[in-house]
Amino acid sequence: MTRKRGGATISITAAALAREREASGRDEICARDRAMKTVVVIEKCSSYERGEVLAAVRRCVDELGGIEKFVRPGQRVLLKPNLLTGASPERAVVTHPEIVRAVAVLAKEAGAEVFLGDSPCISTLRNALSDSSYDPVIEELGLRVQPFEDVRSVATGAQDWQKSIEIATAPLEADAVINLPKLKTHAQMYMTLAVKNLFGCVAGKRKIEWHFKAERHYEHFARVLVEVAKAVSPALTIVDGVLAMEGNGPNAGTLRQLGVIVAGTDCVAVDAVICEMLSLNPDMLYTHRVAREIGWGVGELREIELRGVPLEEVRVKDWQPARAVDVLMRIPGFLRRWLRRLFTSRPKINRNICEVCGVCGSVCPVKAITADKKLRINYDKCICCFCCQEICPYGAIGVKDGLFVRLLRKRTGLRDAFTNIPLAGHGKRSHGVDEKR
Ligand code: SF4
Ligand code: SF4
Repeated sequence: MTRKRGGATISITAAALAREREASGRDEICARDRAMKTVVVIEKCSSYERGEVLAAVRRCVDELGGIEKFVRPGQRVLLKPNLLTGASPERAVVTHPEIVRAVAVLAKEAGAEVFLGDSPCISTLRNALSDSSYDPVIEELGLRVQPFEDVRSVATGAQDWQKSIEIATAPLEADAVINLPKLKTHAQMYMTLAVKNLFGCVAGKRKIEWHFKAERHYEHFARVLVEVAKAVSPALTIVDGVLAMEGNGPNAGTLRQLGVIVAGTDCVAVDAVICEMLSLNPDMLYTHRVAREIGWGVGELREIELRGVPLEEVRVKDWQPARAVDVLMRIPGFLRRWLRRLFTSRPKINRNICEVCGVCGSVCPVKAITADKKLRINYDKCICCFCCQEICPYGAIGVKDGLFVRLLRKRTGLRDAFTNIPLAGHGKRSHGVDEKR
C-alpha cells in the first residue's frame, strides 16, 4: 500500500524497500546469514580504555566474519548508538563514545563513509552528542553527524493502527546500519537492548505519538518496536555492556560494571543471549514474545551458537531488573481496568529531588502531568508508558509497585516476582546454548 503525506514525508511499500535493499546489498548479507546458524559473541572488556575497547570490539567482529563481511569500500554506514538524551558517559545512560569510536575505526578501515545518527527525545542530536562527550571522537575520525528528520512511511505486516510506521530516511537509505545499544533496564519494556535501541529511528515527537496510540497495551507498543527494527534491519549489533544500568533504568538506575561487549547480526538473538547472561527469562521482554509470534529473528537459545568467552564466566546471578511490572498481561481483559492500580506499577515523583523543570510534562503523551508549585500525575489519565521516568534529567521519577506486586515481592523474596512465571502459550525458557570457542 502506498500513501502520500505532506512535507518531507513520502510513502514506500515493503516491496519497494526490499528492492532498495537488494540494490544496496543489505539483503544479500541477511540471506547469507539465514543459511547459517545465528552467532552471538560475548567478549570481556573491563574498562573504556581506548586500546582495550578497540581490541574487544575487533575480536567480536572477527568472530562474526570480519568487518569486510558487513561493510564494503565506499558504502555509507550509519552508526546508531543509544543517545536517549545528552548525558555524561559515566552515568551509563548513553552508549559510551569509546565503543562508537572503535566501531567507526573498523568501518573506516574497511573503506566506509561513517555517519552517526539518532533522534534524542528532548534535545537536538548535536547537543546530545556534545553533552555525551562525543565531540572529540567525531572530530578525530571526521564522522558525519546525521540528525533523523526526514521520514518515510514503511508498510508493516501488522493490523489496525500499526499498518505503517514513519521511520527516518537516514537508517533506511544507509548501505549498512550498525546498531550500538547500551545495556540497561527499562521500566516499560523491561530491558533496552538491541531491538529497543532502534526505536530511536522513529524521528522526534513521533515516538511519543506511538506511546499515545499504544496506551497501556505494552505488547502493541512492542510490535511497533519490532517492526521498526525489522525495517531498519541492522547489519550488525554491538552492545555496550561494559558499564551497564540496572534497577530504575533507563535514565536513573544503578551503575553495574559487567565488563562485556555482546555482538551479533540478529537483534532478537543478541537480546536472548544477554537475558540468559543476566539470568533473566527472555520472555519478560515484550519484544521477544512479539518477535516470536511474527517469526522474526532467532529467539531460542538452543538455536544460537555462542562464541567468545564462555557464558558461565560472565553470568550475573543478582541482576536487579526494572521494577515496573504489568502483571495484568496474564489476566483476562474484562478484569484489567478494575484491577489495574492493584496490580501494576506506576511512575512516582520523588519531590525531594524534583526541580519542577517541566521536562516530563513535555513528553507525556496523554498530558497526565501538571506542574504548579508541585508536580502532579493524574493516574486516571496515565498510561504507564514511563516516558517521564525515562527522560527526567534529575532521576526524580521512580516506579511504585501496585499493592499486589509489593505483597508478592515481599512474600516470594524474588528480585522480580514475575520473572519465573511462565506466560500462557510461550512455553518454558531454553537453556540449550550451543557454545563454540
Ligand atoms: S522532569 Fe524530573 S525534575 Fe523535571 S519536573 Fe519532571 S520529575 Fe521534576
Ligand atoms: S505520567 Fe509518565 S508514565 Fe504516565 S502517561 Fe505520562 S509520561 Fe507516561
